[in-house]
Amino acid sequence: MSADPEVVTQVAVVGAGPVGAMTANLLGCYGIETVLVDRATEIVDYPRAIGVDDEALRTFQAAGLVEPVLADTIQNVPLRFFDARGRCFADVRPTTREYGWYRRNVFVQPQAERALRAGLERFPHVHTLLGHEVVGLAQTGDAVTLDVRAADGTRSRLRADYVVGADGGRSTVRELLGVPLEGDTHPRRWVVVDCANDPLDAPFTGLHCDPRRPYVCAHMPHDHRRWEFMLFPGEDSGDMLAPSKILELLGHHVERPEELEVVRARVYTHHSRLASRFVVGRVLLAGDAAHLMPPWAGQGMNTGFRDAANLSWKLAACLLGRAAPGLVATYEAERRDHARSMIDLSTRLGRILSPTRTSTARARDVVLRAATVAPGVRSWVVEMRFKPVPRYEDGVVVPARRPRREPASVGRMFIQPDVELDGRCAKLDEVLGSGFAVLGFECDPVGGLDQAGLDWLAGLGARVVRVVESRAGERHLRAEQRWPATVVVEDVESLLRAWFAVRTGNVVVLRPDRYVAALTTPQGLGSALATLRQRMGAAS
Ligand SMILES: Cc1cc2nc3c(=O)[nH]c(=O)nc-3n(C[C@H](O)[C@H](O)[C@H](O)COP(=O)(O)OP(=O)(O)OC[C@H]3O[C@@H](n4cnc5c(N)ncnc54)[C@H](O)[C@@H]3O)c2cc1C
Repeated sequence: MSADPEVVTQVAVVGAGPVGAMTANLLGCYGIETVLVDRATEIVDYPRAIGVDDEALRTFQAAGLVEPVLADTIQNVPLRFFDARGRCFADVRPTTREYGWYRRNVFVQPQAERALRAGLERFPHVHTLLGHEVVGLAQTGDAVTLDVRAADGTRSRLRADYVVGADGGRSTVRELLGVPLEGDTHPRRWVVVDCANDPLDAPFTGLHCDPRRPYVCAHMPHDHRRWEFMLFPGEDSGDMLAPSKILELLGHHVERPEELEVVRARVYTHHSRLASRFVVGRVLLAGDAAHLMPPWAGQGMNTGFRDAANLSWKLAACLLGRAAPGLVATYEAERRDHARSMIDLSTRLGRILSPTRTSTARARDVVLRAATVAPGVRSWVVEMRFKPVPRYEDGVVVPARRPRREPASVGRMFIQPDVELDGRCAKLDEVLGSGFAVLGFECDPVGGLDQAGLDWLAGLGARVVRVVESRAGERHLRAEQRWPATVVVEDVESLLRAWFAVRTGNVVVLRPDRYVAALTTPQGLGSALATLRQRMGAAS
């Protein structure tokens, strides 16, 4: 697509990095007319993300792209921490898949970005404008106009109902909005080197807290390996990228570094920074434009994908007339605090990794070794429970009182077990569809709903799912439903039974991003939907 003097669209996404491209794919799935603009013509091929988590794979699944991504992904890769003497003191290997995917997986960012770009070709209503830089922005109560400059200097305008600024850490959109980026830049730089022809037999990600030079060594797909080395004060970035210096760094870890094929190398400075606002009028900031964190928790892009999943269904709901424009403000309420907790986790991990004084490193090792011997702490580490999960309390959720010992559900991501549909096994999200869903366990979830409630669900494009116990028999499978299009599935892994068994409701209302909006009963569903409707600002 080339820029006409004025192009009009529903959503303009600035930045076709992973977060912008994911947002455009999700908007494409919702049927929203979208223009994705990037000043570059090629995908960035620096050494960047290698860790993709379970939530992000669920988002790829929602975008219909999990299969091409998994083709270049090693699933279920452990993370090991090594002390100053090279002894492993923590082995993080979570084995659960509550969201349908493993928690730690290793991929290569540019390959996943290629899958995202290819995914856009499915949508005639999504257009990509490469080689075009956004240089100006003006907004009124109704629309946003972007000033766009092509590589040959030609100027054009792009008018959109909403703009998503996913234009990276040095975001032009953020600057044009005048939104400050709060936080710190770390004094130490790191050199990151990706090699083909992996010479090591170490199928994990290793964080080596070695005070002589802290480093990361990670197993990657297709026989690649990554090293990240900390630079000391006075070491020059340019010098450290010289082939002889890279060989010297690698020579401490492999026998014949000269045989390694270096495919990417770059020096980075780390930041722990958060935009003071994520939403300004009709403009939303997402991904690195909204938050920057050191890479130790492998969460920069994953956090950006959470943003994309959160904001795209909300924009679609507003643009399809299913919610009031005020819904967009809940994006900041839901996402900003969680992004801050990911920045904090990443910063803390950097503090564990980076000490270079031997005495400090030894003291750290003693404390961590003692702590991780305690069974509670050990399982907290091994199961990766230190990773903060999003808990949406103020946004599009219907909070409910729950008994003290009952686990929280509202505002949390719902589980994704396998279910059986007409004798075929499927992941739950395939059954839920891409919009809202009402799911009942061993009950007709909409059995107590009045006609107005049913009409609202129909207008939302919601799907109704009734879950029956595993091998419950024909009587349960064929039971009469109030909503004729109800999908009936079997809980083949008995995981939905376990989930509902410890909670006081048997019906959940699920948002398009698979967060629980409400936990209720068939009798309470009408009132839960009324509150939800009010929180979405939808017309009754
Ligand atoms: C060494 C390293 C390791 C990492 N490891 C991980 C990891 O394991 N897991 C993880 O989740 N994250 C990791 N990250 C972070 C991850 O790479 C970033 O968070 C991610 O790339 C951010 O994506 P984005 O789409 O927000 O921004 P970007 O990828 O920076 O994309 C922004 C896009 O906007 C375009 N753009 C900028 N300005 C304009 C403009 N004015 N007009 C038009 N286009 C514009 C740019 O050309 C670019 O294509 C790592 C990062 C580094 C450096």
